Amino acid sequence: MEALANFLVVVGALVLVAALIPVKRLWQRLPCGSLRFAWMLLSVFIGMFIVGYLLYAHLFWGAAHHWSNMVVPAIFNLGALFVLIVCSLSAKTADDVTRLCHLEHENVTDPLMGIYNRRYLDRSLSQEVAKARRYGLELSVMMIDIDYFKRVNDSFGHSVGDRVLQSLARLLDNSVRDFDRVFRYGGEEIVLLLPYTGIDGAMVLADRLRGWVEERVMVEHAGQEISITISCGISSFCPDSDDEGTLMARADEALYRAKRLGRNRVERALPPEDDKVTVLQEAEA
Ligand code: GH3
Ligand code: MG
Ligand code: MG
Repeated sequence: MEALANFLVVVGALVLVAALIPVKRLWQRLPCGSLRFAWMLLSVFIGMFIVGYLLYAHLFWGAAHHWSNMVVPAIFNLGALFVLIVCSLSAKTADDVTRLCHLEHENVTDPLMGIYNRRYLDRSLSQEVAKARRYGLELSVMMIDIDYFKRVNDSFGHSVGDRVLQSLARLLDNSVRDFDRVFRYGGEEIVLLLPYTGIDGAMVLADRLRGWVEERVMVEHAGQEISITISCGISSFCPDSDDEGTLMARADEALYRAKRLGRNRVERALPPEDDKVTVLQEAEA
């Protein structure tokens, strides 16, 4: 009986020591802040409990002569087990949540450029169009294509071309507001989704970005400075006649007009009605 009581308390103390491992793993992974501090504090509490267990074992060593003297050691033991289970589950839950966040991030991110991917553009565009329609908000789309990018690849190789793409993505991503989102649309085409921005604001932004890209040395390779220019097509949401498809198609049409008119320039989309007229005129011609 005495041996069992001593055993339960000492094992309880050891279980508490084991519980410190997941707790430490947790607070080491957390950024500095109140949550990290709370888990560190919990480690200190567990340490104090370990000291309490050992003190109890020392004071009542061999004092359990009746089954009722087993109650406290048993509670100590089960309590320690409970702490170990809670701490281990917390650490495991944090691992799973972190993994899910990584997966979600990978799911929406382009691996080369580090900006959002086409899949996420489709999802975001539907949401933003629905929001703009529902609340009468402004929304613009900017479609960007690098001018003569094939030449960069042909002259310097694809790996240098990749570095140019990364540099451009970084520049664009760092130059827009928090609300704005930057997506890789295709090979070297990028789309900016600009909520709360009308056509005039989008034009100003596009021209500023176009100028910055033109001035910036994107990559240095073998002592050579590689610069690029971009062409942009802008469309703004018309609640009466636009949906996601027409909004993108009008930006695309404006982009190709910018290409046709000489590149390194920004063009705004025709309003939806004018588009129809133009298409009809082209069909008639
Ligand atoms: P334009 O001014 O008409 O746009 O001329 P361009 O040469 O840029 O023509 P286009 O936009 O059709 O060219 C796309 C090129 O982009 C084709 C391909 O060589 C290059 N490209 C597409 N994706 C990648 C990529 O992931 N890495 C690299 N290095 N190049 C890419
Ligand atoms: Mg291009
Ligand atoms: Mg292209």
